Amino acid sequence: MQAPGSYQSIPTGYPAAPVPPSYEEATVAQYGPAPGTDMKNMGGPAYSSQPTPMPVYSSQPTPMPMPVPMANPVTVQTVYVQQPISFYDRPIQMACPSCHEMIVTRLIYNAGALTWLSCGGLFILGCAFGCCLIPFCVDALQDVDHYCPKCKALLGTYKRL
Ligand SMILES: [Zn+2]
Repeated sequence: MQAPGSYQSIPTGYPAAPVPPSYEEATVAQYGPAPGTDMKNMGGPAYSSQPTPMPVYSSQPTPMPMPVPMANPVTVQTVYVQQPISFYDRPIQMACPSCHEMIVTRLIYNAGALTWLSCGGLFILGCAFGCCLIPFCVDALQDVDHYCPKCKALLGTYKRL
């Protein structure tokens, strides 16, 4: 068992605290090489707090990140507006918007404005006894509904008036 003194005598090289400068070094650094030669202009401590007017840029305008106007406006948009299909009194071939099948529309005739006007006209002309109902049997005087033959969806209507 060795003595603790030998352990402490080993120079570790790792000082626990930085060694402060000696009194002479501190004095020379603060008061110059010759104290007293430069003391005539100094009424107080040499290192008095001299006010240094620092220009404070307090209100420096910081540019806000403005939203950059997008170079590309909203042009890409899915348009589901189908082409304006003109329905007439004839079957047309089209893509059914419901079942997306290429179909030929099925025509369903029903009484429309022209049908009733024709009926009224015939009634005024004297065709009161059943003859005024003829327009309801004439397809050319009725509106036409276009239906899909597959999904039975109403695709459009052709109106005489
Ligand atoms: Zn369909």
